[in-house]
Amino acid sequence: MGMFSRRAEEDDDDEDEEEIELVLFQGALNGKEPNMKENQRLVQAGLNPAKELVTDGLARRAETIRVEPKGERSQVAFLVDGMPYAGGKLTKPQGLAITQMLKLLAGLDIKVRTQPQMGGIKAEFNELKYELVVQTKPQPDGSELLTIKCRALKGAIVTPDELGMSADLKKKIREWTSHHKGLSLSVGAPNTGVTTTAFGMLRGVDCYMFQVHTVRDLGTREVVNVSVFEANKEDSLEQTLTRLVRIESDVVFNEPVTSAEAAKTLFSMQDKITLLSEMPAKDCASAIVQLVQWVGDPSVVANGLMGVINTKLLRKICPDCKQAYRPNPKLIAKVGLPSDTKTLYRKPVATENEEGEVEEPPPCEKCGDTGYFGRTGIFEYIEMSDAIKECVIQGGDANAIRTLARKEGMSTFSKDALRHVAKGVTSLEELQRVFKPVA
Ligand SMILES: [Zn+2]
Repeated sequence: MGMFSRRAEEDDDDEDEEEIELVLFQGALNGKEPNMKENQRLVQAGLNPAKELVTDGLARRAETIRVEPKGERSQVAFLVDGMPYAGGKLTKPQGLAITQMLKLLAGLDIKVRTQPQMGGIKAEFNELKYELVVQTKPQPDGSELLTIKCRALKGAIVTPDELGMSADLKKKIREWTSHHKGLSLSVGAPNTGVTTTAFGMLRGVDCYMFQVHTVRDLGTREVVNVSVFEANKEDSLEQTLTRLVRIESDVVFNEPVTSAEAAKTLFSMQDKITLLSEMPAKDCASAIVQLVQWVGDPSVVANGLMGVINTKLLRKICPDCKQAYRPNPKLIAKVGLPSDTKTLYRKPVATENEEGEVEEPPPCEKCGDTGYFGRTGIFEYIEMSDAIKECVIQGGDANAIRTLARKEGMSTFSKDALRHVAKGVTSLEELQRVFKPVA
């Protein structure tokens, strides 16, 4: 199969190339029927290549597929588990046909090439449903950059375990959400797992003990034991929450907190009901400082907030091709792993055989030779202990809060990440990659 295929350049004589089922396009998200008849020439030139491109992307589990015009060629690139990988090169007409075809399928105007456009396509691949968000951006040379974001509609929300939360953090979430009061937040920069963690926190609530409602739009996600609360359109957030208190709801999952107004409302209700949400912030300590600024009274935040959690995503080592090795005890001590760590895992590396020849590791179908498959979370949190409360009330800045949290032994990213390395979930190399910008 086709020009984008991973090992298209390699000739596997002994292996018949397997016929891969192509993606099915099932209509534009905006409901616009693509006029295939009127665009027959485009369909002829673009439909199959577009299907092959998207199929290749989905088969690699790409979050994003890009087709970027570069002179006489277009470069295909995939983002998998947050890492960019180069795909094949297309000729200019191929790139154009694919871009125009996907625009047509996404219900966009194919005549418009000088304005950015955004739309979506419903798709099915390997019996899974996807939403493909198609974006175009005009380039200085008159061409268009095409970006396709692929989102699987899996339905169920990931659990704290699936997110890789430690037993300690799961316990904290249960504690924070079992007092019929207080606000707990997932905080972080966009696309770092902040939303996934917010939903994970929701799954972490004891749904058998408590009546849990959501006023947040769950999209295509499904949560067991959480009731969707249909708020009156004309009601303010405060009125909605008041109604929920009246029907004796215990825990409410809210839309992201992005304004002073929303923050003030949530804190005004925090002594009546448990509130869960997310907010954009650089880290845990900055989130607390931002809340104080929004609410205007540090003691309200200190007393109303239960805790904040920040997330980073680490790639998991591929279970099919991971290579075990015995780490040097000095290294173990240096990075702070438990001294009894005997085995660690890494992406397979080339080895020398007895004859001194270099042997490349065998190809891995599961991960496409990237060495990694899927991601897991690492977490940093700040709990509003008495000392932290005091620090916030005294007007402590983010630095002061952060330093105190460390002193109190609250979990940090690096500490949490070593847990995954020690368990063989990821590699030291992945840790170095993720923490590089910080170090
Ligand atoms: Zn592998």
